[in-house]
Amino acid sequence: MSTTRITGRYVIGFDGTGHRLLENGEVVYQDDRIIFCGFGYGGQVDHEIDAGNAIVGPGFIDLDALADLDSTVLAFDNGPAWRCGRVWASSYVEQGPREVYDRNDEDFMKRYAYAQLLHNGITTALPITSLLYREWAETHDEFARASDIAAEMGLRVYLGPAYRTGLSMIRPDGRFDMHWDEARGLQGLDDAIRFAQDYDNSHKGLVRAMLAPDRIEGCTQELLERTRDASAALQCPVRLHCCQSQLEVDTMEQRFGTSSLALLQEIGFLGPRTLLPHGLFLGGAQARRENIEQELDSLRDSGSTLVHCPIVFGRSGKALNSFSRLRQRGINIGLGTDTFPADLIRNMHAGVMLNRVQEDNAQAVSAADFYNAATLDGARALGREDLGRLAPGAKADITVFDLSGFHLGQRVDPIQTMVMNGSGSDFKTVIVDGRIRVEDYRIEGVPYADWHRRAQDQYDRLRASYPERTHLHPPVEDIFTPSFAPLRAGEDQ
Ligand SMILES: [Zn+2]
Repeated sequence: MSTTRITGRYVIGFDGTGHRLLENGEVVYQDDRIIFCGFGYGGQVDHEIDAGNAIVGPGFIDLDALADLDSTVLAFDNGPAWRCGRVWASSYVEQGPREVYDRNDEDFMKRYAYAQLLHNGITTALPITSLLYREWAETHDEFARASDIAAEMGLRVYLGPAYRTGLSMIRPDGRFDMHWDEARGLQGLDDAIRFAQDYDNSHKGLVRAMLAPDRIEGCTQELLERTRDASAALQCPVRLHCCQSQLEVDTMEQRFGTSSLALLQEIGFLGPRTLLPHGLFLGGAQARRENIEQELDSLRDSGSTLVHCPIVFGRSGKALNSFSRLRQRGINIGLGTDTFPADLIRNMHAGVMLNRVQEDNAQAVSAADFYNAATLDGARALGREDLGRLAPGAKADITVFDLSGFHLGQRVDPIQTMVMNGSGSDFKTVIVDGRIRVEDYRIEGVPYADWHRRAQDQYDRLRASYPERTHLHPPVEDIFTPSFAPLRAGEDQ
């Protein structure tokens, strides 16, 4: 048994109800557990860490954690989604989709992404990757390797291969359509169940299982019902993307004559283990006040969690309507990064601003509300009273946010300054399960320059592969246009 004490200018302790600010406080952990948080620990300690002018806080919980080389950012200035390959061309589906990455690429991007998460003070992650460059979905073997990678990097994860029974595609005439393969999707669920049985609670509990059916419009009712039953039998979280696009709303209306949440409520899919990104399109095709009210009640009464990812949707002009109002209604809301950078602090800042714009009220929400969402509310979503807080008995998932940076300017209040002026790159030390993973801004053994180059190479290959999947197959320069028209040497100015 080894005991470590961390002292710092500010410690965010937990008093049994909420976070408290402990000036010149201390937190003491033994192996993987916190044994003390307060002032003047009297026991024996083996190691001392003086964090100095810093916030010593709990690690963040990322419920929709970016875990690949993000393809969403390719659409930043290149929408709409179907124009830049985010909905597959039907000709690509008919010819038979292919894996763009090989096994080494897949493993590398996970290792790379998990390192990014750790650097951003994220100690618990529920990874999400895109299926756009997959032959169909994710696999058991790939996730067996992902478990090892997470353990090697020392990131706490909830893992499960994504699966689906169908996908949206676009016909040459511009019509949207669905392609179905239910047998393949049900096989995907069986593989995911096998993964959960093999790997839940592995690597000393660092790796837990979750079920990750892909977005709702690609799921048959059979797949949803079997997923619901598997989540109950395995007692593991299930994450399902829904209420996130107009295409989804229209597809659900066509298939079921109802909204995504109404269907989930009807089949008993909602519950305390259910995590739902992104909650933007409520009420279905006929979004009447009473439909929306009913959906919100079903979320609250079932104890489901909405996963809010302010930046990824803010970039496409959408915002949860609204974080503060849904929270006041009693709906649990956790946070996710979902896009690059995997930075929950930047997401908190965007979240606060978008919320205040939505409500036209600067008092609608605070930095603390979003800090709670990234810690305590994320832990509630996972049914984990030992995460997201610094208190005796909690896991030793601890971060040190350095306040000494010149770029941070003046301190107003540590958390408000963190949210307004800081970013994930201000985390100096990150401890997961009692082990120091980031020390002095570095993860031991990561060849940063090499990874940076390799990620760019892999990304360039991904980008070059877009024409085959994109509507009418334009050349790649027409899919992703430059911000300014390029001018090359020797050309007339
Ligand atoms: Zn998402």
